[in-house]
Amino acid sequence: MAAPTFESEKVLVIFVLGGPGAGKGTQCERLVSQYGFVHLSAGDLLRAEQNRQGSQYGQLIADHIKEGKIVPQEITIALLRNAMDQAVASGGKTLAGHDVGPEHKDKWTGGKGRFLIDGFPRKMDQAVGFDETVCNSRFVLFLHCSEEVMLGRLLERGKTSGRADDNEESIKKRFRTFVETSMPVVDYYRKQDRVVEVDSQQDVAKVTEDIRKAMDQTFAKLGQAA
Ligand code: UDP
Ligand code: MG
Repeated sequence: MAAPTFESEKVLVIFVLGGPGAGKGTQCERLVSQYGFVHLSAGDLLRAEQNRQGSQYGQLIADHIKEGKIVPQEITIALLRNAMDQAVASGGKTLAGHDVGPEHKDKWTGGKGRFLIDGFPRKMDQAVGFDETVCNSRFVLFLHCSEEVMLGRLLERGKTSGRADDNEESIKKRFRTFVETSMPVVDYYRKQDRVVEVDSQQDVAKVTEDIRKAMDQTFAKLGQAA
């Protein structure tokens, strides 16, 4: 089999998983500046592709998102690979307009880079496909949250998010997909001792602090500079 697109010695990939509304996007945004990560949300990339003029996948993506189903892995993996390519080639800039900034440029030279990939992989085939063909991921940050809390957050977000899946009917379907399809991915990485778990039910700042501690410990264990 062909080698992955990115070498894991140069490109660090951390997957951020947790149920819908667990706080993945919020927490990733709060971590990028400290560590010089580029944050890629699989859901955001899919929504951007859905809205792109001329995309042949627009309707398919829209249907899957509304039903809380997982879009075929080829599409999501291609979007992630493109976004990673663009960030590595430009020294830490994204198409969405983010730049890791001058203090982190040393982590983004000579083909190097570091990514937080949020909301992916949420199905076994994606996990295996990405690790084998794009980049071998280092570890998973898993955010724990009860369905009750997640439901409350998503309904609140739904008042302003404009997202087609932040309504009670879609949320129930997303919870089901999470339990049946995405938790096996977390268990797969747990068996390999590659999951860092944090309780994300507390307030945002406390969760960020807990993640930072867990992240620093993990970096130390891996011999990776934070
Ligand atoms: N999605 C998908 N594959 C992925 C990630 C997301 O098909 O790898 C779709 C899926 O339908 C999911 C929706 O995008 O329910 C929204 O994902 P997002 O990560 O934005 O939701 P969150 O978990 O952050 O609430
Ligand atoms: Mg999200």
